[in-house]
Amino acid sequence: MKRIGFNKPYLTGKENEYIYQAVLSGKISGDGSFTKRCHQFFESRYGFKKCLLTTSCTDALEMAALLIDIKPGDEVIMPSYTFVSTSNAFVLRGAKIIFCDSRKDHPGIDEDLIEPLITNRTKAIVPVHYAGVACDMDKIMALADKYNLYVIEDAAQAIDSYYTGKNGVKRPLGSIGHLAAFSFHETKNIMSGEGGMIVINDDRFIHRAEIIREKGTNRSQFFRGEVDKYGWVDIGSSFLPSDIIAAFLFAQLENLDDIQQKRKAIWEAYYEGLKPLQEKGILQLPVIPPYATNNSHMFYVVCKDLEQRTEIINLLKKSNTDSVFHYLSLHKSPYYTAQYQGKDLPECDRYTDCLLRLPMYYELAIEDIENICTTIKSYYS
Ligand SMILES: *Cc1c(COP(=O)(O)O)cnc(C)c1O
Repeated sequence: MKRIGFNKPYLTGKENEYIYQAVLSGKISGDGSFTKRCHQFFESRYGFKKCLLTTSCTDALEMAALLIDIKPGDEVIMPSYTFVSTSNAFVLRGAKIIFCDSRKDHPGIDEDLIEPLITNRTKAIVPVHYAGVACDMDKIMALADKYNLYVIEDAAQAIDSYYTGKNGVKRPLGSIGHLAAFSFHETKNIMSGEGGMIVINDDRFIHRAEIIREKGTNRSQFFRGEVDKYGWVDIGSSFLPSDIIAAFLFAQLENLDDIQQKRKAIWEAYYEGLKPLQEKGILQLPVIPPYATNNSHMFYVVCKDLEQRTEIINLLKKSNTDSVFHYLSLHKSPYYTAQYQGKDLPECDRYTDCLLRLPMYYELAIEDIENICTTIKSYYS
């Protein structure tokens, strides 16, 4: 029986050639020619004001926490249904995390529950565009304006996805908050094994971002010939990737449209295949709100309860197919639960117990998807 894993990193075929070119160029540390080409690609395709590759999305989030000067006791609002890095980045600077529940129709943060969580210690809101589907950014940016807060988009899963605001303007995710963080981990649409990027949409942060990323030095300015020597000017760390990583990433970027088209066809095949179950009220399928686009990062279903989800996982396993659940709510994690003082987050708990992700990768055949859908339907018949 054919084995179908949950994820399989897709190689476009040019990765080795570009890595070889990077090696031959003699400059394989950070900010070499492939890094610059990646920056230019993102800035021109998405109109991001300033992009800087990082070694991971985790690093990009840590840079964001440094840039907005998080101090012990500052509060940061984010969903509990997210990856640990979303909160760790701020916890490392001493922040108190204020967890918010998810929406009923989507695992993303419930925008209508944010305002009551804001206090005079709140410094930032970190929306996570779960599955690459936009949060309602008009609502979040309006709160940020009203209370003078920063917004950092965790756009780890959100490459090539868009949000259309009330004004009718369609903007790429990652271009709306003051800062945004993307991931190029091998489980994401576009990847370099490990990798990430910080996007800076607010001019005030550009200069300092370059410094923080280069160990707290003004080396970037030195390389541009703007200063005649460089030194220690601020706090910072080493957040920039080798140009070898950027070479790999650039090969992926050149094929972004092809990759996205393929993933969309896979997503649609799942949706069509499982729609009858949603129509009967048996399963909840992903909801794409009218203001959002779908970048087909993930295909998930929401089961009725934990027991059904476990049984479906086991049934798929019998046909050699991997399916996996996702986050365990951070407010109930071993690290955080003892210090959590907030309310119950029932939607978040529901996604923790009931959300199931199905295999999603470039090389997945439509026929495989049909078989997976048939197996799931057989469970309910
Ligand atoms: C993948 C992911 C991250 C972490 O990305 P890395 O590049 O592995 O550090 C952070 N947040 C979310 C929502 C993610 O999906």
